[in-house]
Amino acid sequence: MYTEDRHSSRSLLLAALLALTFDRCAMAAEQATAGLQATAGAPAMAAAPASIDVDAREAARGIMTAHLRLPVSAGPLTLVYPKWLPGRHSPAGPLTSLGGPRFTAAGRALPWRRDAVDMYAFHLDIPAGVTVLEADLEILTAPAPDGVVQGLETPRTATESLLILEWNQLVLYPAGARSDDVSYRASVHLPVGWKFATALQTTAATGDGAQFAPVSLTTLADSTLLAGRYFRDFALGGSPAVTLHIAADTPVALNMSAETQAHYRRLVREAAALFGAAHYDHYEFLWALTDQIMPDGLEHHQSSDDRSPLRALLDDPIRRAEANLLPHEYVHSWNGKYRRPAGLATSDYQAPMLGEMLWVYEGLTEYLGDVLAARSGLLTEDEFRSELARDAAAMDSHSAREWRSLRETTISAQLLYYQSRNWAARLRRQDDFYQESALLWLEADTLIRRESGGHRSLDDFCKLFYGGRSSAPAVIPYDFDALVKALNSVQPHDWAGFWNERLDRLRPGAPLEGLRAAGWRLALTGDPSIMHAAHEADDRDLDLRYSLGFYVDDEGAAIGDVIPGSPADAAGASPGSHLIALDGYKWSKELLHDTLAAPADPAGVITLLVEKDDAFKTLDLKYTGGERYPNLLRLPGSEDLLARIAHPRTAPQ
Ligand SMILES: [Zn+2]
Repeated sequence: MYTEDRHSSRSLLLAALLALTFDRCAMAAEQATAGLQATAGAPAMAAAPASIDVDAREAARGIMTAHLRLPVSAGPLTLVYPKWLPGRHSPAGPLTSLGGPRFTAAGRALPWRRDAVDMYAFHLDIPAGVTVLEADLEILTAPAPDGVVQGLETPRTATESLLILEWNQLVLYPAGARSDDVSYRASVHLPVGWKFATALQTTAATGDGAQFAPVSLTTLADSTLLAGRYFRDFALGGSPAVTLHIAADTPVALNMSAETQAHYRRLVREAAALFGAAHYDHYEFLWALTDQIMPDGLEHHQSSDDRSPLRALLDDPIRRAEANLLPHEYVHSWNGKYRRPAGLATSDYQAPMLGEMLWVYEGLTEYLGDVLAARSGLLTEDEFRSELARDAAAMDSHSAREWRSLRETTISAQLLYYQSRNWAARLRRQDDFYQESALLWLEADTLIRRESGGHRSLDDFCKLFYGGRSSAPAVIPYDFDALVKALNSVQPHDWAGFWNERLDRLRPGAPLEGLRAAGWRLALTGDPSIMHAAHEADDRDLDLRYSLGFYVDDEGAAIGDVIPGSPADAAGASPGSHLIALDGYKWSKELLHDTLAAPADPAGVITLLVEKDDAFKTLDLKYTGGERYPNLLRLPGSEDLLARIAHPRTAPQ
């Protein structure tokens, strides 16, 4: 999953995210023909194929429906709705967006009862003689792009011109069954003329949709479908083949430059050079470009569900800000899907997930996503550094690290994904562990390089731990000891001590040791870095975290997070306040920049008029530091390891 720092109105309101995935082992092909298995928890399910037919023709209205046909036999039956969603690392199954189920058998409605404790479970009694249970479900989403999403709702996944179908939102399966052991034959109806892509194998195109080969529930939930009115496919090469599919809200938004296409082709070659093997039969990037769906990314074994602003291929700042999205999700095919922490490798979607090793699953992916973006040319070396500076400065401003360890943030990831950005720095919320862990993996990379005399690097670990022999999708779980053992075989070191100290320590300030070991130091300077500007454009906000100490949303001039210890914090600012005026004049970005450059008050007080809860008040911010933005500066006399790390492993083509 991808949770880039986003602070605009588009993302302040998120909360319950959706997902699916999960692939259990390399037996997908065999399981494709296996039927629903009767288990101890599902005595009435028969071993025969099930089907799921999704009608997405009204997706733009916020309605997708499914008709399920489940083979059953007489007796009590409990069906469950997927709750814990792979890649989301949380119980994000959108139960309150679910319409139904409505059950029928032999043409007659069949009563059901929700479990009094487990809201995701539905109890039925299958009458004698009934062999097929039919179920109708619908998933309902709000059409407003930024509609407040409550805990168990799902944000919208369709616009007038594209849709993203997450099969797990529309499926039921027998309680107690392993997702590997139940299979579905899926089909979809789409708006007329729309094209689509998915990692599923299409067996028949139906004019307004398609039918797919039977797969396990694991594979179905791991195979998001992207469809759209405006659609393009880009072959990216690779062996197995990798294809980039893009659906956009406008035809012009599909226009990827030849240079950017070359960078994505190189991404595939650079990943092959890094890992040395692949664990998919083919790979499909499914990239939705729209301003109507919350930007996001979700990993699967053989595809990724990537969501970016409409102009991600057209506007250079937005292109830069989104440059590490596809690399991040692609890395997950190795780190997260193929190799997965044992606590996240559950056998069905009802078992709780343990997030404690997300500092590997997400943290190393965050690091490698940036590295591969640089090696493939999606980010320049300067942009790569600028991105690291931005992440490091953000971590440096989080006061909660004095009471909340990195390990604690990974354990509580299932809560953090549901929280807004408000007070994020004070609470160390959301994707904190992505960026902080990435800085620690940089430190590990520099340590391996230094202690091996430059002969080895984290690349060797990636080959060893994630490469091996190429295979079909498979899950190889690991634990902390296995990770430490692999690191030790690359470079002997007290890796258990290294990680335990960093995971458990409580100290102010970001871990900047890796940057320093790479020859760079973090500094706040008056120059907005290229990635700072890129993310402001992407997030549609003004990022004043390192000067006055808050964000301002472009549209409503709403204050976002307030940085602890900043002038805004000292003046009593709170998230959700709207800026009305600055030093007596109507608020504007330009006025803010002018004021920081040349304060009107010689005593260094900047007065903000804000509206909050229908009341107006003034805030006096004591500040004379001018504009301040995170940048990396070279440490004299040191080797530039960041340049080495960012250097491509493959030749341009
Ligand atoms: Zn991720």
